Amino acid sequence: MPKLIFLGTSNAIPDEQHENTHTVVVGEQRIVLIDCVNSPILRIKKVGVDFNRLSDLIVTHFHPDHVSGVPQMLMNMWLMGRIQPLNIYGLDYTLDRIEELMGLYSWSEWPDFFPVVFIRLPAQDMISVLECEEFHILASPVQHFIPTIGLRIEFLKSKKVLAYSCDTEPCPQVLRLADGANVLIHEASGLLPGHSSASQAGKAAAQAEVGALYLIHYPTGEFSTGDLLSEAKMMFEGPVKLAEDFESISFD
Ligand SMILES: [Zn+2]
Repeated sequence: MPKLIFLGTSNAIPDEQHENTHTVVVGEQRIVLIDCVNSPILRIKKVGVDFNRLSDLIVTHFHPDHVSGVPQMLMNMWLMGRIQPLNIYGLDYTLDRIEELMGLYSWSEWPDFFPVVFIRLPAQDMISVLECEEFHILASPVQHFIPTIGLRIEFLKSKKVLAYSCDTEPCPQVLRLADGANVLIHEASGLLPGHSSASQAGKAAAQAEVGALYLIHYPTGEFSTGDLLSEAKMMFEGPVKLAEDFESISFD
């Protein structure tokens, strides 16, 4: 049952086929959204996931292409009569700004608003984010312009492991998160400060000895550049895929 669904795969500039990068991990008991852009309800419904069963939101960092959907999602949940709490996980830097953002919308005055529980993660390597019967999620700070976390998700029944670099330059923390993982989802924005190229993503996959590499957060539409798959394959011998919106990976 546990699976990850790509809800968006583009870098900060989306196109018709690629929304900004965000994903959802769907388990039997918990549904964990990783970043939240635009109107997430539309895509969550489109992939057949019950919006009201969303239990947790992990916010990797406070850039608009990763958090723009938070106010809209919280308002939608409230208007749809949500009662159960929503857990939101992130670094202090991230959660402080989400609180400020929601403060601008006077959310404390929204009547009968459901509980939002902020779970503040210390900026340390391999911090435990969330542990349940189905999976254990860990985080480490990675190298981006602002405080940012990458993730490692260990699926307990199948013993499979998924790692996600998030937005980052090549750094040892990603290699530790991805160490021996079955799947590494790695950003491929390009050879830019605070980001990685497809070639660097391939190198990380080889160094961490992962089973398969998915490239995400890549330039799309008129900004597409080069042959990202070939670039990554020059560095990594295993399977490489370009993640596409609505595609899913199963971790049975
Ligand atoms: Zn980004």
